[in-house]
Amino acid sequence: MQSGRLRGTTLSAVRFAQEIAEQTGGQWSAVVIGGQGVADVAERLGSFGPAKVYTVVGDAFEHCLAGPYSVVLAKLVEEHGFEVIATASTTTGRDVMPRLAARLGAGMVTGVCAWESRDGSILYKRKVFSGGVVASVTVSSPIHVLTIDATEFSDPMTGEQADVVAFEPGGLGAAYRARFAELQSHDSARPDLTEADTVIGFGRGVKDPANISNVEKLADILGAALGGTRAVVDSGWMPNDLQVGQTGKQIAPKLYFALGLSGSIQHIAGIRGAKKIVAINKDPEAAIFEVADIGLVADMQVAVPEIVELLGE
Ligand SMILES: Cc1cc2nc3c(=O)[nH]c(=O)nc-3n(C[C@H](O)[C@H](O)[C@H](O)COP(=O)(O)OP(=O)(O)OC[C@H]3O[C@@H](n4cnc5c(N)ncnc54)[C@H](O)[C@@H]3O)c2cc1C
Repeated sequence: MQSGRLRGTTLSAVRFAQEIAEQTGGQWSAVVIGGQGVADVAERLGSFGPAKVYTVVGDAFEHCLAGPYSVVLAKLVEEHGFEVIATASTTTGRDVMPRLAARLGAGMVTGVCAWESRDGSILYKRKVFSGGVVASVTVSSPIHVLTIDATEFSDPMTGEQADVVAFEPGGLGAAYRARFAELQSHDSARPDLTEADTVIGFGRGVKDPANISNVEKLADILGAALGGTRAVVDSGWMPNDLQVGQTGKQIAPKLYFALGLSGSIQHIAGIRGAKKIVAINKDPEAAIFEVADIGLVADMQVAVPEIVELLGE
């Protein structure tokens, strides 16, 4: 949950939970922690048919802090005996779950992209080396803590509406030592990068920040989110929360426009889940053309304004 709403990426963990519960003959439950908006999110999560939805509400949980959140989750796990705890592999998930694993003395696997039962244990698969290699991992502790690759699991099935149960975590002890002070975020009217159907990503080929307005016009016409390579983020031309790739966001839009970007292995690691990739690059040898479904060898400073005009600015 973020800003009082259920994020699309969370649905990957829901789908994973449904699969693992169904195939192992177990049950799954959901937990929502937060301040305002918990009830709405809990009801929505309940529509996917978990055994229960637990809610933890309080001012201390209005903003996600790994300390308090991991304490609460550890208490819930210990009280109810959950064996597999999963969240989407988002910034929040990657922050909270290692702490939870440490508290529970549990083994952890990040970025689970697939799983299977083998010889009575679960084999988790995760992409390594920018997605070039898939590693299979087993966890030897009784409790497994996971983050789920949000580009690989989606569209959970709806089920019988679950009961929502308030969980009272009691004191948080030393976890209260860190307190939320301020959030500096980049506000945009455009769709969220990780949830948008169409994303326009651009790279150093944009050449000058003044040229970004052409890309923005295209994004506005298509109702697309904007993203970029690390090169444009490092140049200060784009906020770093819009970086796509190995050390940025992993996205799975229906359509990804790759404009003036080379297609480095680190960038590709973030767009492997895209259904269709359209690339514009002036270099016919650019690596992005190896993964693109449609490629145009052209100067983006010429091609993008032409497309904008064609689509009717
Ligand atoms: C540990 C590590 C992690 C990294 N993580 C990431 C990450 O998460 N995301 C990421 O993106 N990168 C990441 N990088 C950086 C990555 O290696 C590349 O340096 C970066 O992706 C290159 O960005 P770029 O394609 O914009 O720039 P460049 O490599 O400079 O490519 C620019 C492209 O634009 C084309 N071009 C130039 N002018 C035009 C024009 N007028 N019209 C059309 N095309 C044009 C060129 O032909 C070229 O292909 C990481 C690197 C490391 C070492």
